Amino acid sequence: MFDLSCTDLTKRFGTFTAVSDVSLNIPSGSFFSILGPSGCGKTTLMRMIAGFESPTSGDIAIKGESVLRLPPNKRNVKMVFQHLALFPMMTVGENIAYGLRCRKEPKSEIAGKVARVLDRVGLPGNEDKKIDQLSGGQKQRIAIARCMVLEPDVLLLDEPLGALDLKLREHMKIELKQLQHQFETTFLYITHDQSEALVMSDSVAVMNAGRFEQIGAPKELYDAPASGFVAGFVGDATVLEGKLGEVRGNQGRVVLEGGKEVIGTVSDGSKSGDAVEVFLRPEALKLGKGESGCQLEGKVESLLFNGASSRILVQTGRNLIEVADPEQRSDVGEGSAVTASWTPDRARIFARRPGSGAAA
Ligand code: ATP
Repeated sequence: MFDLSCTDLTKRFGTFTAVSDVSLNIPSGSFFSILGPSGCGKTTLMRMIAGFESPTSGDIAIKGESVLRLPPNKRNVKMVFQHLALFPMMTVGENIAYGLRCRKEPKSEIAGKVARVLDRVGLPGNEDKKIDQLSGGQKQRIAIARCMVLEPDVLLLDEPLGALDLKLREHMKIELKQLQHQFETTFLYITHDQSEALVMSDSVAVMNAGRFEQIGAPKELYDAPASGFVAGFVGDATVLEGKLGEVRGNQGRVVLEGGKEVIGTVSDGSKSGDAVEVFLRPEALKLGKGESGCQLEGKVESLLFNGASSRILVQTGRNLIEVADPEQRSDVGEGSAVTASWTPDRARIFARRPGSGAAA
């Protein structure tokens, strides 16, 4: 059973299509993210699910029932906004009780429900605190508690970490995931931050210009991106531009700008003669010789120390290549002559994305 399904959902504003033919099925109790750059249509999609915007065509179902004809307050979904929208003049308890009072739940039950949800978000006994007495992270938890006390089928979260500083964001990623596990409720999270989506989600839909490019588990998107857009948007990669030459099976030879040839795996329908990009993940590269076509010589431009995710930047011709250096090698320094190599299956070739550099 799916908690939320969208089928061929489209939204047009005049002649502009903000969401185009989007379909998804979210299984019960999962953490699902929609990831995409600013303006790709994430908020419009979420507003349609919440009932604040009507689709031009398509269907939305919650627990298998179409909700298109239901107003927002009759759909059993709740939404956490980026700015949380807590009532500053009310106490924590009053904020959480607000929705229960609107529903005219018996007074005798409200206090108990508020106490229980506060307990579940790790803030027991904070009913009488004022909102401005809370830290940024505590406000997040109250915003979630205020929704969860109403027991929604799906909780929608619209970039709720956007206003937090970096350190708190890192912490809240883990906390949000734990809260979702604890409530066992489906969370639909939208973000333009790939690291948030990868860390928290069971599944991610990568959205670009109103469409879904790929839906998959974070590892699947990272290891087997379906397009150059996904390969470039999810995770880090060095991108080499060139023209696809000979293709044998799924292995292709790419002539880079500057004349060097490299080998990789053609990962879409690109054909010989097409302008392409070769994506190399930092951990797919090592320093040392590789087989012909799977290496580039260069000089170490800089060493970036960052604990386990330390990197070596290698300048080769016009390309700066990022090589993972988890062991923080001491035998190379800035200016050392090195060779960066890979195996053909770890270099993914996709059609060149529109607007990315000059034609080959
Ligand atoms: P962000 O991350 O910046 O919030 P987003 O991915 O959520 O972006 P949307 O807010 O859904 O994107 O907007 C998608 C596109 O639809 C944008 O080009 C936006 O200008 C347009 N759009 C959104 N709402 C309307 C509207 N009411 N009328 C006309 N165009 C709109």
